[in-house]
Amino acid sequence: MNGARKPLVLIVEDEAHLTTMLHYNIEKEGFRVAEARDGEEALLMVQEEPPDLILLDWMLPRVPGIEVCRRLRSKAETRNIPIIMLTARGEEADRVRGLDTGADDYITKPFLMTELLARVRAVLRRIRPALTEDVLTFGDLSIDRTSHRVRRSGREIHLGPTEYKLLDHFLQHPGRVFSREQLLDAVWGSGVYVDARTVDVHIGRLRKAVNEQGDVDPIRTVRSAGYALDESFQP
Ligand code: CA
Repeated sequence: MNGARKPLVLIVEDEAHLTTMLHYNIEKEGFRVAEARDGEEALLMVQEEPPDLILLDWMLPRVPGIEVCRRLRSKAETRNIPIIMLTARGEEADRVRGLDTGADDYITKPFLMTELLARVRAVLRRIRPALTEDVLTFGDLSIDRTSHRVRRSGREIHLGPTEYKLLDHFLQHPGRVFSREQLLDAVWGSGVYVDARTVDVHIGRLRKAVNEQGDVDPIRTVRSAGYALDESFQP
């Protein structure tokens, strides 16, 4: 796993001993870990640095877990963050309610740590397979994230650092349409003021570099929405 890109897992849990145990075990799996003790803190932390996965307790002070889940799902920037709900309630109705609100998985307390870790790995593999890979490919495009080499049809492409980050982001989510604002957050970082048109400039450079080695443009411009690595791209 590429050290610089360790996935971030946010634990939202008010029971300190459980948090400590989860933190220790998840870190040991090779992930980065952040902790929030209540729902309000969790929502703030997600805004600051969106995690790759959230372990979300149902019973939380201030804002309950199910409400945190609902709020995250209602915003475009946080809609796709995988969530595993933790709960002491085992009733089927609650399970259904949790999944309805958009949780990706559900685990009932008390649970075995090995089972929880297996679920964490499964959710990350299913939703963000790119997180755990060093080489990302799409059609005849590939990025080696260890050596930072980009190739199209086996030939090396030289990209500037911003174009490299854009392509890496697209390769992590093939087919998904990103608005200029989402690309700014993902590539330049949230809280940095850059004009949205800057994105168009760098997309233009990325396109030019990538298309020198091939005749099909893999980047699709989605009118009034943004950009995507095209799903139908088949060189
Ligand atoms: Ca709790």
